[in-house]
Amino acid sequence: MKDPACPDCNVVMERGFIPDLRRTGYDETYWMNGHFTTITSLGWGRGTGGVSMKVVTYRCPDCGLLREYAQPEKRE
Ligand SMILES: [Zn+2]
Repeated sequence: MKDPACPDCNVVMERGFIPDLRRTGYDETYWMNGHFTTITSLGWGRGTGGVSMKVVTYRCPDCGLLREYAQPEKRE
């Protein structure tokens, strides 16, 4: 995915992520479809859906706006 532009400032946003606290430390945030059901002994969330995607957060260097995207990973 091409880095998006801020809708307010029209400058390219910087890619990053917001750490997600787990029992074993920090990890990237994931988007899952469906509803949350339980958490495993290893700290992984379980849900009713079968889709899980990493969440990428972009930040505008001018105004600080954050936008999040969850897209399937490309296999290269
Ligand atoms: Zn902006």
